[in-house]
This record gives sequence, structure tokens and C-alpha cells, in this order.
Amino acid sequence: MATLQKNIWTIFYILLASALLFLGIVSYIQLNSIHQKYETDQINLVKLVSNATDSLFLTQEMMLNLLGNEIAREKDPNILDDLRALNPSVVSFGFTDVEGTYLYTSSNFDKSKRPNLRTEAVTRDSFDYTLTQKKMVLGRTYFIAGSGRWGIPIRKTAYDELEQPIGVMTAGIGIEGAFKIYTENLSLGDYNTVTLIRDRDHFVQFQSSNHEISKNLYEAPLPNHFLQTLFNDISQKYNISIEEMKQKSEIYTVETSSIEGRRIQIALKYEPRYELWILSEVDHSQIMYDFIQNLIIYGLIFIVIHMILFLLFKMVANAENKRRADLTFQATHDTLTQLPNRNYLQQYIQDWVYHGAPPFNLYYIDMDHFKNINDSFGHYFGDMVLIEFSKRLLSLVQKESVVIRQGGDEFIILSSYLIDDDTKLLSHIQNMTIELLKPYHIKQFNFVIGVSVGIAKYPEHGTTLDMLLRASDIAMYEAKKQRNSVHLFLPSMQEGYLNRVNVEQALHKALTNNELYMVYQPQVDKHGVIYGVEALIRWQSEELGLVPPDQFIPIAEASGLMPQLGHFIMSTTLKEMKALQMELGTSFQTSVNISIKQFMEIHFLEKLTKEIDRAKLASISLCLEITESLFIEDIDYILPLLQKIRGMGLHISMDDFGTGYSSLSILRKLPIDELKIDKSFVDTILNDITAEKMVQNIIMIGKNLDLYILAEGVETQEQEAMLKSLDCDRFQGYFYAKPLRYDALKEFFEQNHPHMSS
Ligand code: C2E
Ligand code: CA
Ligand code: CA
Repeated sequence: MATLQKNIWTIFYILLASALLFLGIVSYIQLNSIHQKYETDQINLVKLVSNATDSLFLTQEMMLNLLGNEIAREKDPNILDDLRALNPSVVSFGFTDVEGTYLYTSSNFDKSKRPNLRTEAVTRDSFDYTLTQKKMVLGRTYFIAGSGRWGIPIRKTAYDELEQPIGVMTAGIGIEGAFKIYTENLSLGDYNTVTLIRDRDHFVQFQSSNHEISKNLYEAPLPNHFLQTLFNDISQKYNISIEEMKQKSEIYTVETSSIEGRRIQIALKYEPRYELWILSEVDHSQIMYDFIQNLIIYGLIFIVIHMILFLLFKMVANAENKRRADLTFQATHDTLTQLPNRNYLQQYIQDWVYHGAPPFNLYYIDMDHFKNINDSFGHYFGDMVLIEFSKRLLSLVQKESVVIRQGGDEFIILSSYLIDDDTKLLSHIQNMTIELLKPYHIKQFNFVIGVSVGIAKYPEHGTTLDMLLRASDIAMYEAKKQRNSVHLFLPSMQEGYLNRVNVEQALHKALTNNELYMVYQPQVDKHGVIYGVEALIRWQSEELGLVPPDQFIPIAEASGLMPQLGHFIMSTTLKEMKALQMELGTSFQTSVNISIKQFMEIHFLEKLTKEIDRAKLASISLCLEITESLFIEDIDYILPLLQKIRGMGLHISMDDFGTGYSSLSILRKLPIDELKIDKSFVDTILNDITAEKMVQNIIMIGKNLDLYILAEGVETQEQEAMLKSLDCDRFQGYFYAKPLRYDALKEFFEQNHPHMSS
């Protein structure tokens, strides 16, 4: 069952893992799409910037073109002022000859103070380069003194009709004016800058930025390593050379590192006419920022869902735990009494039995004749008695003890309460049994329960549960022999026990293997006339030899074989004695022994009637021998039963009389025909005066109640004489005949014909 619990959590972890994987994939896709988004944004931006730059510079170029030609022709510098007034982005105009000397300037410019463009280091490059080009050339971005603004010089060579250069037209375009559009509309945000880089010398022409632009941005070319890695990265990604890049003038995107070494995403395009690289860059941290914002949302959703899932799983697992605990309790406890059961004992015995465990005692408690309660009162009362009994048992033991219902009416106590002295231990438990003997009130009834207790000590009598159970069971079996008693296990009991087990096994086979048969011992009256026989069972076992009945009958009773055995005895006896009486043409009484257990069986009478019917012997004279120990059973149950039996025309003989403790008052009430004086009195009658007195009393009582008196175990003439003098009227014993098999009995009858009644 633990697996289900495990399974639940496995499912949870699988769910968690798959969700994590899913989250990972989603995040990855998300990250990519954010990258893509920035990439697309930057591509669009670069396109826009490229177009804007192009058209801006083309307009300016056209203007320079017209202006240069106009100046060259008219030599009138006023036009410069006019145009400047029309075009606010132009800071100033100037016209130099091909040697770099200013010829004309707009009026805001003092031409005498202007250096020669050719000798001035800052301007020389672009000036010379302009002379080699037909198109407009951009100069280095410079700080316009006094105005606090940045400007870009644009130059274009002016030609005469013969296409000979006659001078260079230069204008300064204020960045803030002309490029305002970039900074305000053509930026993706604070995180984005667009830079125009001159290809020729890698000077920055312009950078859109919301930050203060530092002077050195325009005063030195961009570091080589930055551009080098940038171009390398693009070359590698698109498998293209720089030259091809310039020719194709497409937009390339790449991840690279910034000048400062930060990771950036770049979109780059070459603008061939003005030889500019248009570079848009976004900090990678911005992409990550976007991504993390998304991730936080997903993460929160994920966490919330999984918290809910976790709680659900926890609930299921808890319910499962509880269910399992209940199941374990159910499996290890008895539903009726709620006591731990034998499964519990098997499972938890290692708490008691282990290497170096402290000693303890195991008490095996068996209720005496509990079955009768079930049989005569029904299971409701049986159950109630068990419940009350277990409650009382619990109240009698020490806290540390474990009380187990081993099954049916058997209980086991594990007790660490130790008493060194065995006699004290026995009397301690005996006291407990006396407490248990007190009546149990259930509804209007009082039930008295005797118990037999077997004690085994750990580790003395066994170091495993099986050994201890066996030892205590053996001791309990000894206790059973006397009622309501307590026995401590003794190794000497073991032998008998082993024998018991053997006998039990062999007895099973005996029934099917025809090892059982009946013998009959004749019974004679005062005149030596045979009036009946006592049927006695014999068992000639193949394995065990001849087993005496007083040994195997209790075993048959204990192992549930008695009903079968009883049927065998009754049917064989009836069949054989009917046959014999037919053969001899006479009739005599047949006595059959009935044990207490047989007698107390719920269907005893029905079965008996069936047997008699089956034998078709309505006229047979049948006598049942019962022992007086029967009368410690419920007399209210027994009495009507005996009366019914008598009513059927059967006789009843009280066997072994004098050994038990029947009271005279009970005897008076009993519907019996015969008292059998036990053999033990007959044995000693000649030399023991108390035995003689005893026999005398029995005979007197019997006569008083109008009963026949039979003495059994008569072996000598002297015994017979003594018994006769005491007025005994029936005799049985070796002196007359041993128990005989059918043929021998027939012979005996025939030989003693003269004595037989007819
Ligand atoms: P029990 O009913 O007291 O039977 C009389 C026993 O005394 C028989 O022993 C019998 O063989 C023996 N006996 C009779 N006369 C003499 C004698 O002169 N000297 C000596 N030494 N013994 C004599 P058995 O057959 O061994 O039976 C022992 C007990 O087993 C019986 O005692 C009876 O309680 C029980 N038993 C025997 N057969 C049956 C049976 O068929 N059914 C039941 N329920 N119990 C039986
Ligand atoms: Ca008998
Ligand atoms: Ca007897």
C-alpha cells in the first residue's frame, strides 16, 4: 500500500518536472521571440534611419550642388545668407578654392578667421577626399564654438563648364536641427542608440542618444577591436565579406559585445553614397529585462498552480495515509474486541524478541467451553461475552503488557512484569483467572467463564514467537486437563505434545484406513447372567501400534475429529450388536460411552436419532454412559436433553461415579438408570477401608434413588464377593471377560449360554 502513496508523489514530481520542462521550453521560445522582436524593431529602425539619412543628405547635396554652381558663376556671397535663412538646419556656408582657402562665407562666419581647410588637420582628410569625388562628402562632426551645438560639415566640389574643379562648397549642418528626428522619433527607447559611422576612418558621424553626448565620441575613431569583432561576427553569421556587405547594402543583425564589453544586439546597414554604417544597438540586458518580466509572470502562475496541485496531492496523500493507517489497524486488530490480533503479534514480535531483548512472559489463555455459549445462546451472546471478557482481561494486566486475541476464544498476553519465583508467578496468574471467573452480566444472563492458561518464558522456553507459542500451548494443554488452571511450561511436557501432534496426524488417516474397530465387554448381573455389553473403541495404528482410547479420544476432541469418530462408534456398535442379536436370537443392552464434548454438541440428539433410525433398530436396548463431570456444564441445558433421551426409551448410566464432584441434590434430579462405580474404588476395595466405605455409600445412595449399581474393573472373585455383600447388582471386568471383538463375543455368549437370559 505504501506504493500508492509513493505513486501519488511520483505523479506529482512527474507533473512538476513536465511543467518545469514546459516552462523551460516556453521561456526559451519566449526569449527567442523577444530577441526576434528587438531584432525586427531594430531592422525597421535601421531602414527608417537609412531612408531618413539618405533623403536628408540628398536634399543637402542638391542644395550644395545648386549653391556651388551659383557661387562659382555669380560670385555673390549673399545667396549664402539667403539660403541659410531658408534652411535652419544649416549653421553656416562657406566656399573655398581648391587649395582650401575660403573665398566666400555666410555672414555669420568671419572668413578671415577661418583656417585653410587643407592645412587644418581636422579638415584635411575630408577636404582632399571631396576633391576626388563627384558626390557630397561628410566631414568630421565638430563642436560649433559658441553655439554649444554639434554640427556635421558637408562638402561638395563645384565644377566649371569644362568639368574642372573650381572650389569646394562647405556647409555645417547642426545635428540638433537636422537629426532631431532621430533622437525623437527614430529611437526605440532609452535602451537603444543609433550610430552613424563613417566607413573611411570609423569616426562617429552621429549618435542618437538621450544622454549627454561626450566630446570624445566625435573626436576619435571608434576602437578598432569593437568594429573588428562586429564585422567578424557578421561575416561568420552570414558568411559574407565586408566588401560584399557594402555592396549589398542589406541589414544584418548580430549579437556581439559593445565597446565596454557588454552584450548587445546590433542591426547594421551600409549606406554607400555617404559611406556610412548605420548601426542600431540594444543592450542585451534590455532583452533580458523584458524576458525576466515575462518569466516572473509565468513563474508566478507556475508557482500558484503547483502550490494548488501540491495541496491537492497532499490532501490525497493524507487521505491515503489515513486509509492505510485504518487498513493497517483493521489488519492488525480484531474487529470485535478491538484488541491486536495474531497478525499484529507476527508483525510486532520483534519489538519483544531480538538479540539481547529483556525477558518477558507469554500467557496463552484459552476459555473453557466457550463454544457452549455460542451453541446454546447464539452468537450475539458469544460476541458480548468475548467483548466483556477482553475488557476485563485488559483491566487486569499491567500497562506495558500487550493483550492479543489470537483467534476464537484464545488470548495471548505478552508481559514484561516478571516474578522470579515460579509458585508466586503461578499464583499471580491464578488470581487473574479467579477475577476472570466472576460472572459476566449480559442482558438478563450471567455467564461464568473458566480459563486455562499456559505460561512460556522468554528466552528460557523459546527465542522465537513460534517456539514461545508452542511452549505456552503445550502448557495450556496441560492446564486444559484440569479445568480453570494455570500451568508453566516444562520441557517434560514436550514429549506428550509431540506425541499429541503425531497422534492427531495418524488419527486422520485411521478413520479412512479402517484402523479403528469396536470391542464389547460383557456385563453380568448378581446371578452371573449376561445382561449387556459396553462398547469400547480400539485403534490399531499402523504407525503407533495400539493406542489406548483415553489417549486418543481427548485428542480427537481437541482437533475436531470427534463428530466423525462418534459416528463411527455409534454406527458400528449398532450395526454389529443388531447383527449379533439376530444371530443369537436374543436381546441384550448395549452401553455406549459418550464424552462431554460429544454430549454438548448442538446437534447431538438429532444425530443420535438418525443413527438409531438408520440401524432400523427401534427395539434395541441402548444405554448411554456419561460422566459426572458433565454436570459442571449448564444443568439447565443438560436436564431437558437427558429427559428427551429417556423419553426415546434409552437408558442412561453415570460412568466413573465417585471421582467427580456431583452433589447429591443434582443426582436426585437426574433422570438416570445406573451408577457405575469407578474402577479405582474396586481396585482398592479389599485393602482400603475408605474405598470400602465409599463404595458402600455409593450403593446406598443409588439404591435410595432406585438406580442399578454397576461395579467396573472387577478382576477377582474376592472383589466380586465383597461387592455382592455390599448389595451391588451388576458387574463388569476381566474376571468375567475382557473387551471382545465381534466373533469372540459371539463365542462367549454361546459358551455361557446357560447363564444367559432369554
Ligand atoms: P471407561 O468408560 O471407564 O471404560 C472402562 C475401561 O476399563 C475400558 O478401558 C476397559 O477396557 C477397562 N476395563 C474393564 N474391565 C477391566 C478390568 O477388569 N481390569 C482393567 N485393568 N481394566 C478394565 P479402555 O477400553 O481402555 O477405555 C478407556 C476409556 O476410554 C473409557 O473408560 C472411556 O472413558 C473411553 N472410551 C473407550 N471407548 C470409548 C468410546 O467408544 N467412546 C467414548 N466416548 N469414550 C470411550
Ligand atoms: Ca464406560
Ligand atoms: Ca469407567
